[in-house]
Amino acid sequence: MKYRSFGKLEYQPSALGFGAMRLPVLGDPPRIDEEKAIKMIHRSIEGGVNYIDTAFPYHKGESEILVGKALKGQYRKRVKLATKLPSWLVEDKADFDKFLNKQLEKLQTDHIDFYLLHSLDKEKWQNLNRLSVFSWAEKAEKDGRIGHLGFSFHDQYEVFKEIVDGYDKWTFCQIQLNYMDEDFQAGKRGLKYASQKGLAVVVMEPLKGGRLANPPEAVKNIFESAGKKTPVDWALGWVWSHPEVSLLLSGMSSLDQVEENLAIADRSAANSLTERDLKIIKKAKEKYLSFKPVPCTGCEYCLPCPQAINIPKIFEIYNDAVMYGNLKQAKEQYQRLNGVENCLKCFRCEKLCPQGIKITEQLKKAQELLA
Ligand code: SF4
Ligand code: SF4
Repeated sequence: MKYRSFGKLEYQPSALGFGAMRLPVLGDPPRIDEEKAIKMIHRSIEGGVNYIDTAFPYHKGESEILVGKALKGQYRKRVKLATKLPSWLVEDKADFDKFLNKQLEKLQTDHIDFYLLHSLDKEKWQNLNRLSVFSWAEKAEKDGRIGHLGFSFHDQYEVFKEIVDGYDKWTFCQIQLNYMDEDFQAGKRGLKYASQKGLAVVVMEPLKGGRLANPPEAVKNIFESAGKKTPVDWALGWVWSHPEVSLLLSGMSSLDQVEENLAIADRSAANSLTERDLKIIKKAKEKYLSFKPVPCTGCEYCLPCPQAINIPKIFEIYNDAVMYGNLKQAKEQYQRLNGVENCLKCFRCEKLCPQGIKITEQLKKAQELLA
């Protein structure tokens, strides 16, 4: 295993962290396959992993319980444990203690090394600030229940910057980053910004929820023609090549994936990609993008729609479904949105779109695929 740096701390995290959000499951309704999941966590630790990440809602609340069982005894001392406050469920100040104490109980520990405010966006950030989250967190740090405070993030770069600048005692943050999402949400700009401010940066979704592990034939051919490395190797290697990245989290679902990731992590290094490697990744990315049906940039100029149709979100889901073939997940996401059938054909959105997208036509196509 390779070890890296973690912002201002002495701690050296393993390049690979274990993300406990896609554990193996059994039965219907699916429950975590405990025996397999515990074996995977133990194997990861034996292979040098020293950072385990979970969260309150993962596996409908069962992930923290499983991680607690897996880390019982000697394993707890060998790792840093990260979990997250479910910030969207916090309504008043008493909720902070309520959730943290519950999590300590589920995880069978008396302290969380790295505690994150989960999935911050503008709205949650404002709500937590209103409830003085930092004075609460500093008390929890003092009484030893929390080691260090950080946040995970899902919103635009400007909001990310505001959050990084909004508290001067952050130890770390967690952002989505992979070679297809360089400019998505915090993106590479956010990585550099947080790192310059002294925050450690943990990367999630390095394989874009597993999608980059199984690329379409045309993308696979590009990687295959470049040598023996697998698509997973290319994708993880790209993340690790950024020296500002402290570690990446992989949500592993089988022992084979653990072994594969451990082997790739052993070869990982900052600045390891050559000019030729970067060209190959660029080519693969361009190939993916050539499958993108709607050239939407997510600028939101078309909003608000009088029928509250979330146009950029629908295009994001539609593009994702076509580019990565994840139709099942895309349909589930689409179902949660306000329906395209409510469109009035007022064409207000089309007049505002700088990309000249025929929005109503494309929404109809999205609906045909996803409804
Ligand atoms: S055309 Fe449809 S989607 Fe566009 S603004 Fe009007 S109602 Fe909304
Ligand atoms: S204005 Fe056009 S490019 Fe911008 S989010 Fe709307 S559809 Fe996408």
